[in-house]
Amino acid sequence: MLFNLGDNMADVDVEATKKLYTERIEAYRLCYCSSCRNYQERIRRISPTAARFFASLGVVPDKAEEVWAYLPGKAPFTQQYSCVFPLVCNSAQINSHQSYTEIEEGLLAGFELIEGEAVLVVDWTLRWVHP
Ligand SMILES: [Zn+2]
Repeated sequence: MLFNLGDNMADVDVEATKKLYTERIEAYRLCYCSSCRNYQERIRRISPTAARFFASLGVVPDKAEEVWAYLPGKAPFTQQYSCVFPLVCNSAQINSHQSYTEIEEGLLAGFELIEGEAVLVVDWTLRWVHP
């Protein structure tokens, strides 16, 4: 299925991607710092819009391959995260780096190439559970 995010396009094999997440990828093991614990709490209660977006690609959002907490969000009591999710793609056309589509407020999504493989990258601002 063809997806356009920002300037980039990927033909994602959604069924194969679903299979990858159900069979192979374990939940990402985060450390116990406050940012990681906040992510683990928040990922369990994402919005229906975010849930539909991840499901459309076959991606399970609590099984990110990498998660970085890198900046406080612009709004108070928020933290910005960057997450990488593997995909199974038939093909991908990556025209520009860091080109994102806003899925909802605070959730930007794009495609990047890592070692020749297209991945889903999200830039996510999540509120602190316990500010
Ligand atoms: Zn951590």
